[in-house]
Amino acid sequence: MTILIDETHDATALSWVESANLETSDFPLQNLPFGIFASDTDSSPRVGVRIGAFVLDMRSVLAAGLIVVDPVVARALQSDTLNALMSTGQQSSGNLRRELFNLLHMRTGMSSQHATTVCLIPASEVTMLLPANVGDFTDFFTSIHHAQRSGQLARPDSPLHPNFKNIPIAYHGRSSSVTVSGVPCSRPYGQTGPDSGYRLTEKLDFELEVGFFVGTGTKAAERVALDSADTHIFGFCLVNDWSARDIQRWEAAPLGPFLAKSFMTSVSPWVVTSEALAPFRLPANARGDDAPTLAAELTSAKHTASAAINISLQVTLQTAQMRAQGISGESVARPNFKDQYWSAAQMLTHHSSNGCRLRPGDLLSSGTVSGPDRADSGCLLERTVDGREPVTLPTREQRGYLEDGDIVSMSGRCMRRGFRTIGFGECQARVVSASSSSQA
Ligand code: CA
Repeated sequence: MTILIDETHDATALSWVESANLETSDFPLQNLPFGIFASDTDSSPRVGVRIGAFVLDMRSVLAAGLIVVDPVVARALQSDTLNALMSTGQQSSGNLRRELFNLLHMRTGMSSQHATTVCLIPASEVTMLLPANVGDFTDFFTSIHHAQRSGQLARPDSPLHPNFKNIPIAYHGRSSSVTVSGVPCSRPYGQTGPDSGYRLTEKLDFELEVGFFVGTGTKAAERVALDSADTHIFGFCLVNDWSARDIQRWEAAPLGPFLAKSFMTSVSPWVVTSEALAPFRLPANARGDDAPTLAAELTSAKHTASAAINISLQVTLQTAQMRAQGISGESVARPNFKDQYWSAAQMLTHHSSNGCRLRPGDLLSSGTVSGPDRADSGCLLERTVDGREPVTLPTREQRGYLEDGDIVSMSGRCMRRGFRTIGFGECQARVVSASSSSQA
């Protein structure tokens, strides 16, 4: 099933929730992302939909009978995670999107608006939680610019691994340490060399990534065809895959990333659905004349026409000193997700190619998203050449890697002429020293 652009993407459509109509809002009527939240007055985790500056409490919406959904979707909307909703498939999520769009649209009658108003909670009064129970987390390596620049540091003669253009490379991450935006990042300990013992990392880094949640799962031995892959993707979020470069360098050979990555991975709380992203699809990236022929399983005409997604990303860095002086976060990278060498569909198809089961709520992530210029590197390893060329901040402080007190914040927006801009909100966390993390 191809997701079509329909009336829910109409740029002229306005909501009676006025804050959704502000040009600066990431969450207009055309977005309608899902998340899990708890509120000051009710601490039970439940499904919410973001609209402007408010969260629509779906449990209240259902109780008031404000939307028409089938019983499976109704049950899923009363869960404390999005896994069940993710599993209902794109037909159901498309129908639900239309119901919500109509409910929040300016043309909705006054009585319905009044009944819905009591289901709205100011976003400032909720605590966002992890959107899904993530059974498995897979971290890919799909930016050729990241692969080349990070590879250059380790292997100047042949920075790109020979398999990079044949398969979307990945490793299995650690789902237990996937956390929601806002949870502080505790600087990890690890071995960094033969005589180091276990010490605090001196090379703590962020990785700007775009993640996606599996919707409909697969059975064991089921191989997903490329043209069906998008139907297994519920939606997308921002990911900060924190990394300790000194630990990584020492441990990574011969089996790949382990403790340098598994201490924490932050995700943004709002899952922007595949439906909302439909207008921002672009043709797949050109692979270049020297690229090897793709395996038949990883290419198709449909895929070539619409595999990439145009998401303008940004990372900002704010030190404790900047905060004390009232200086907001400084932009340190502005890459675009459309520049990835491999698409989300190719990642999912490759992942299932050996029959590995994918379950609703599994998180697959792109790996570091870096632009063609080093200034748009999605991690400090690349941007500062492993700390040797630090970035200078407005306070004249320098950063080769992250220091305690630094706040890393990631954002993403989708823009296209003739369509309403939508955004992902924020994926943000503060670095804390290991000893203070339990009180943070
Ligand atoms: Ca990563």
